[in-house]
Amino acid sequence: MPNLAHRTATLAVLCVAIIAGAVALDLSSVSAQSDEEQTGRVVARRLDDGRTEFGWQPSGGARVLPRSRFFPADARVDRWLNSSAVEVDGAVIGRISARLLNDGRIEFAFTPLDGERIEPTQRYFPPRPGHSRWLRSTEITIGWPDGLPLIRVFAGEEGVTEAQLAAVRQRMNQIVRAYAARWGANAVPPAQVQVHITEAAQRAASGYGSLHPCAQPYTDAQGNSTIAYRFGCSGASHFVLGHEYMHLVQTHFGGRLGYWPNTPIWLIEGSAEWVETIYESLNGGRSYQALQSGNWWAARQARNQYALDDPALCGCPPHYAAYTMGFVAVERLAQLAGEQAVFNFWPQLRKADQTGREIEDAFEAAFEAAFGISLAEFYATFDDYLNDDRPAVRPAPTN
Ligand SMILES: [Zn+2]
Repeated sequence: MPNLAHRTATLAVLCVAIIAGAVALDLSSVSAQSDEEQTGRVVARRLDDGRTEFGWQPSGGARVLPRSRFFPADARVDRWLNSSAVEVDGAVIGRISARLLNDGRIEFAFTPLDGERIEPTQRYFPPRPGHSRWLRSTEITIGWPDGLPLIRVFAGEEGVTEAQLAAVRQRMNQIVRAYAARWGANAVPPAQVQVHITEAAQRAASGYGSLHPCAQPYTDAQGNSTIAYRFGCSGASHFVLGHEYMHLVQTHFGGRLGYWPNTPIWLIEGSAEWVETIYESLNGGRSYQALQSGNWWAARQARNQYALDDPALCGCPPHYAAYTMGFVAVERLAQLAGEQAVFNFWPQLRKADQTGREIEDAFEAAFEAAFGISLAEFYATFDDYLNDDRPAVRPAPTN
């Protein structure tokens, strides 16, 4: 994730123009909505007497005005004030928070019932707004009662349909909940998906690495972990979203070391493949055996060309070594240290990075801490492992 200072500076430039209505890049107003979701915007307008009235605008719903909702003209600078409870469909979801800044702007946020303040990307109310006109923040998502992040899904270009957005939203929320059920609530970071129907999906993520034709993980200018996804690109299968989401797990928890080349490509792609494979096989996709078998076959072919620690190892045809050898290697690591280790590794990586070690040393330390085997020993024994019969591994469903 980019650092906060950069993020704040970007906002300062963008915010006033955008909250005033020029929402050129924000297509979220066309995003679909399921009953369980609580997304919306903080809205505010300046009254004749100098006070600022604010409310909550649920996505696709009518404006909600809490009883206490007037921000005084003579508020003390830098002090957060809260509205009374905001109720949507009979349920209290939280309070709107606001504070006056030094430069006369008012900063808005939303404080959920039991949670930390959520700051919309565009959240500053200008010192001199148009007369009595409601201005809106960007859309935010109020967490579900289960505490897991709700994945924001929005159209990345014209022509993306409500049905497509709804399908992606359903799939992403299923992925997050399936991952959390199997690997723990701490394993699932917040994210968003930008849905495309053309090759604009690749342009959206360009500059962030290789360009997969269907889906790309990247971090947007506001620091949001994002998947640019081309709808229907991989046939009827949405399982690729499970793979890309694992990349967001890596960078969210691993920090700067969670990217290639600080982490070898076989571990980055191999863990994404392995997680996706378990997810797919337990959620109506192909069987684990079939997917495993394909990976082992290709990995054994690729082995004629590469060792696992070969710097030239790539995710390229014909054998997609980074993916296929990576899958086998990660499956091996899960055997040695348990499935959970494949997730625990990334926070270990960040921790190791914070000790001031060289990047390579930090990686090796995290590797050994998470998997209980040194990187050198793992590499030295991997080829023999690949010679053996592939293990009859069949991940059991959770619960
Ligand atoms: Zn990948």
